[in-house]
Amino acid sequence: MNPLPIEEHALTLLHRIFGHTAFRGEQAHIVEHVAGGGDALVLMPTGGGKSICYQIPALLREGCAIVVSPLIALMQDQVEALRQVGVQAAYLNSTLDAGEAAAVERQLLQGELDLLYVAPERLLTGRFLALLDRARLALFAIDEAHCVSQWGHDFRPEYRQLTVLHERWPDVPRIALTATADAPTRREIVERLGLEDAKQFVSSFDRPNIRYTVVPKDGAGTRALLDFLARHPGQSGIVYAMSRKRVEAVAEQLCKAGLKALPYHAGMDAALRAANQRRFLQEDGIVMVATIAFGMGIDKPDVRFVAHVDLPKSIEGYYQETGRAGRDGGASEAWLSYGLGDVVSLRQIVEQGEASEERKLLELRKLDALLGYCEATGCRRQALLRWFGEEHPGACGNCDNCLSPPESWDGTEAARKALSAIYRTGQRFGVGHLVDVLRGSRTDKVAQFRHDTLGVFGIGKDLDDRQWRSVFRQLVAGGYVDIDVEHFGALRLAEASRPVLRGEASLRLRAEPRSLPRTRRDRRASDAELLDLDGDALARFHALREWRSLTAREQNVPAYVIFHDATLRAIAEADPADLDDLARVPGIGTSKLERYGEAVLQKLFDAA
Ligand code: ADP
Ligand code: ZN
Repeated sequence: MNPLPIEEHALTLLHRIFGHTAFRGEQAHIVEHVAGGGDALVLMPTGGGKSICYQIPALLREGCAIVVSPLIALMQDQVEALRQVGVQAAYLNSTLDAGEAAAVERQLLQGELDLLYVAPERLLTGRFLALLDRARLALFAIDEAHCVSQWGHDFRPEYRQLTVLHERWPDVPRIALTATADAPTRREIVERLGLEDAKQFVSSFDRPNIRYTVVPKDGAGTRALLDFLARHPGQSGIVYAMSRKRVEAVAEQLCKAGLKALPYHAGMDAALRAANQRRFLQEDGIVMVATIAFGMGIDKPDVRFVAHVDLPKSIEGYYQETGRAGRDGGASEAWLSYGLGDVVSLRQIVEQGEASEERKLLELRKLDALLGYCEATGCRRQALLRWFGEEHPGACGNCDNCLSPPESWDGTEAARKALSAIYRTGQRFGVGHLVDVLRGSRTDKVAQFRHDTLGVFGIGKDLDDRQWRSVFRQLVAGGYVDIDVEHFGALRLAEASRPVLRGEASLRLRAEPRSLPRTRRDRRASDAELLDLDGDALARFHALREWRSLTAREQNVPAYVIFHDATLRAIAEADPADLDDLARVPGIGTSKLERYGEAVLQKLFDAA
């Protein structure tokens, strides 16, 4: 057996195989616990480094680790990434034919595998369980463990039957992992997977490398989006939109603007959808415009931004979606644009849905919380983390509100005017018309309903359209105004509006800049700035990236499976002269060095 204590041996493997210099956060404790035979529940944000937590124990323990994963599409990439670093890994799912599957099963029985990825439905078959009886098992890893939760969006009924693992093999350690942190989901995982005695490892959910920004929508929301995308030239990112139709429309607009944008939604032809996903993973600089059908388990490490052109459904959803940015730890952005129209659409979807009343109420409350987040004046990071029960001191320095604190103003008078406009027009109109009335615009609708005869007509010329919309959004977010979805998003007075109308309460509102700040947006950030590399190093980086693209295409694997951007950047910066130099660059393990070392050095030599 191995003479080193677990910690030391684990660190050697981390370095030799994965090329990392040290464990991150709780990784070392988790590895030690599981390698020593303990059960664990691991809560770590996306990009926190969950895989290492079962991959290293898998290598430390005798036998094969069985990894349960709900995502067939991703098993292949995960296994490929492991093979690249010289680990014996395989997967079993419905994409393999009988012959291929039989070969994998043989490898398992002959003890030739360190890790085997399986889909839950395959794992639970009597045949497969019987096969496991004959194999030597190192551990069970249950990835995306929140799939066991009926209340989540990723519910997978088979996950509930995974308790069979514990019943049948009580001595084989289990490690369940998820990035969904809220307390109810956590409790459900423990209960449903029988993990009462498992040690819980809860990491901070903060993602300090992600910058959060929320902006009000401008019409269809694409102009502001284009400005935002101009800050990320040639980078990979995801743009989430609410519906299939929106996805198609936004993707088309981005293509017209000269961006490499691809659509992705559940209504597309399956082959085209899969092809688009592959391109996103393999090529550099693709903007994927998608519904939330795209994403769970997209473990591309160099996604530099996640933009929402429409309001997501909940803070949990938002956090999970934005979490797909910056898994490699590099600076990344989460950008959200929204308007009251989104709130109306989302409420409609919920209220007209089939769910129970209890469930609908829960979803509406989640939507309200998100709205509150959008209109908040304090640190975004603090607000997000608080939602997950985590204290953050605020002033993070990396969110819009911290970087340029919004000014507030006494909005009592404006609020009273807005509320009166709602009341006087009969609580039957949406925000667009109400703003027209306040600003005294003589539209057809104003004429039709003779709203120009009302006392409120034209009493709000002091504020512009954007400012009025902001007032209405804040009134909704603050619970002073309700949205009547049955009447096409008409605004109605809520109970809380009374003291304001009566002049008994005052209101401070967040100031909306009159127009978008112009200073930064017309300027495209250059590659050199984004990467912070000097001229020669930048040239080396580009040469290496080109080589990586070719190599990835030859092997038909995603580019990041060969090397991460961060690794290429580190190589470009270090400018190694020989293999020994190269071996010292973080992210390069023994296997990668053997495989690609010469080619990298040659490429650097050619580029010099
Ligand atoms: P998760 O599954 O939690 O989202 P991954 O396991 O995919 O995260 O890891 C996220 C990224 O962090 C990967 O690019 C991985 O290579 C990197 N990583 C993980 N552990 C370490 C470490 N100890 N040192 C450096 N990088 C790490
Ligand atoms: Zn902040």
